[in-house]
Amino acid sequence: MTAGVTRSAGVIGAGFGGLALAIRLQAAGVATTLFEARDKPGGRAYVYHDAGFTFDAGPTVITDPDCLHKLWRLTGHDIDRDVTLLPVDPFYRLCWEDGTVFDYADDQDAIERQIAAISPGDVAGYCRFLAYSRAVYREGYEKLGAVPFLHFSDMIRAAPQLARLRAWRSVHAMVARHIRDERLRQAFSFHTLLVGGNPFSTSAIYALIHALERKGGVWFAKGGTGALVAGMVRHFQRLGGTLRLNSPVERIETEGRRATAIHAGGGRHAFDVIASNADVVHTYRALLGDAARGDRLAARRHSMSLFVVYFGLRGLRPHLRHHMVLFGPRYRGLVDQIFHGNGLAQDFSLYLHAPSVTDDSLAPPGHSAYYVLAPVPHLGTADPDWESAAPAYRDRILDYLEARHIPNLRRDLVTLRHFTPLDFKTQLNAHLGSAFSIEPILTQSAWFRPHNRDDRLDNLFLVGAGTHPGAGLPGVIGSAEATASLILTPEGP
Ligand SMILES: Cc1cc2nc3c(=O)[nH]c(=O)nc-3n(C[C@H](O)[C@H](O)[C@H](O)COP(=O)(O)OP(=O)(O)OC[C@H]3O[C@@H](n4cnc5c(N)ncnc54)[C@H](O)[C@@H]3O)c2cc1C
Repeated sequence: MTAGVTRSAGVIGAGFGGLALAIRLQAAGVATTLFEARDKPGGRAYVYHDAGFTFDAGPTVITDPDCLHKLWRLTGHDIDRDVTLLPVDPFYRLCWEDGTVFDYADDQDAIERQIAAISPGDVAGYCRFLAYSRAVYREGYEKLGAVPFLHFSDMIRAAPQLARLRAWRSVHAMVARHIRDERLRQAFSFHTLLVGGNPFSTSAIYALIHALERKGGVWFAKGGTGALVAGMVRHFQRLGGTLRLNSPVERIETEGRRATAIHAGGGRHAFDVIASNADVVHTYRALLGDAARGDRLAARRHSMSLFVVYFGLRGLRPHLRHHMVLFGPRYRGLVDQIFHGNGLAQDFSLYLHAPSVTDDSLAPPGHSAYYVLAPVPHLGTADPDWESAAPAYRDRILDYLEARHIPNLRRDLVTLRHFTPLDFKTQLNAHLGSAFSIEPILTQSAWFRPHNRDDRLDNLFLVGAGTHPGAGLPGVIGSAEATASLILTPEGP
């Protein structure tokens, strides 16, 4: 890649997408400045340090480590210089209230054995689903995951594959075609929730996540996801890039078809190209002052939000696994209520993160760190007064954990904090407090998603969860590759 005439770039937001784009641009010789509103980089991957515990605020499941390795290989370096990635085994432990447990890892025999124990008739169906998942992985991820969809013709070109793979079906419908047992249907369809998608309406293309995990494994950065963020920042700065923290961007200045400067902290900073990693609605409404386009984006369907509780305990809990999914009594009904209902459901399904199982550096000796999250409606679907509702909701979740998975949780509690949909809105400028930006349904994917380059301003670009291909670490890092290809080879990749 060559930098062409682009000599300087300003990137707004130091989430994974912004960081990955900044690294790619700086590695290509473009003097890049990253503006981050908060006091730490990482965005959703912020870090809290409480009472000697380290809590990753957001992403913990690292898939497709190769997309990270590539960021160092650009300049002939090795990721090991800055980050140690540890394999997680099993990838997840899935638990149901009837006592069923499923440990899921890249071990075909173990998977088939466990499926046979739950529902012997579903082993062959699982193998067919795996073959389907691998096919969509090749078409949807390897071929299209990091290429920009700027023109409708790009979509037309991809259409035959999408049709062949029945992309109009939902992930759950595709799983249900092959697998009959309700628990196993949940086990192989819940993954869309990790990128903000409703398993009952997200395109079956997202079934590729299963193959992606089987192929690349599930990893954890030693020291936490925050250590990966810190490693990316180190790499970026070593290449000569500039990171400005505590620098909320107030506006993007434009002139004709060009974005000319970033205004932050009372200063004006001119760049050849500008890219925004901030929420797309915030970018158009607040930063560009383009109310019409902001409103159009705001009217799109947005992903659900999350309620997250971070807690540190005295003692270790070796019976837990690093990543645990705790399915509640309802699946479709709960998901419906989260995406379409009004009000907070009485029941929940939870993801429990117990990183001390893999890494003892995250808690003081003899202690262990956790977070638990519940998918909840975004503020456009349900808008309880989170300030007052949060403590009671948090307590219900902790009671549930104590009763079923972590005995003596209250007795051993050292530290506790939580993050609500309102915090996503106020702290991350996330429209409606959505945790994953625009919902990944077929009619909001690829060309139908906000493009990696703005349609009117020739040198304004988008990167991150709201643009193609979408949320999740592999998604936003793929978006950085797509966006960088447009900046560095303006005639297109
Ligand atoms: C709790 C949680 C758990 C998750 N778990 C996983 C997981 O295990 N695995 C996985 O792959 N994905 C996971 N995800 C999804 C993943 O974290 C996100 O999709 C991804 O991190 C989003 O990255 P991004 O680049 O879009 O930017 P973001 O992380 O959204 O960062 C955007 C940045 O822009 C900054 N910003 C906003 N406005 C301005 C402004 N005006 N000026 C300057 N800066 C601004 C924000 O402060 C923020 O730092 C999880 C998400 C959440 C919330």
